[in-house]
Amino acid sequence: MTKKILIVEDDRRIAELVRAALVREGFTAEVVADGNEALVAFRVASPDLIILDRGLPGMDGMNVLREVRQSDHTPVLVLTARDQEDDTVHAFELGADDYVTKPFSMRELMVRIKSLFRRSPVQQMTPTVQFDRLEIRVAERLVLIDGKQLETTRTEFDVLLLLASNPGVVFSRERLLHEVWGYSFEGYERSVDTQVTRLRKKIEEDPKDPKFIETVWGVGYKFRNAQG
Ligand code: CA
Repeated sequence: MTKKILIVEDDRRIAELVRAALVREGFTAEVVADGNEALVAFRVASPDLIILDRGLPGMDGMNVLREVRQSDHTPVLVLTARDQEDDTVHAFELGADDYVTKPFSMRELMVRIKSLFRRSPVQQMTPTVQFDRLEIRVAERLVLIDGKQLETTRTEFDVLLLLASNPGVVFSRERLLHEVWGYSFEGYERSVDTQVTRLRKKIEEDPKDPKFIETVWGVGYKFRNAQG
């Protein structure tokens, strides 16, 4: 089935370039230019993925993201300007799955979109992964702490599942980017740190003294050994 992508971008030139690139890749794409239209199109067309410009007239991109996330897990890729780097952290907090900084190459954008589609659903042999208070139900893509369900984004879930499925194995940031995001562009290692910080806030009793995801200084992260 053809994947439907909603482009929310007020810069008509960028929107048209992105739309044309998506169509060339075999996607169906619709463009809207402001936040309110985006929410209408999101509800009416139920796209398979949303490309969301951060800076929009009227309703800001971050508010659109917040609204979308209240009811849905459709992957969202946020477009940000280079001087809005702090906003990428904010975008992840609101549940964005990935972001691209303007100016971007169409090739990079297409790689990322395809990888977002590839990522879900994760096929695993193990139906659940359990460590003390933490339980991951793979098929349902649920994370529970003490039996209580947590809200996780697709990316947070994939990072946690990969680490927890390989306890004691050290993953470099580059390897995590490769395996979870499906690509590794230079300079995006910080995205990994942001995701881990977000996860720790959700799953750890004390995020500053993490018991599940340990930092391996100068390398990356590992999930603690079952005995540890
Ligand atoms: Ca804009």
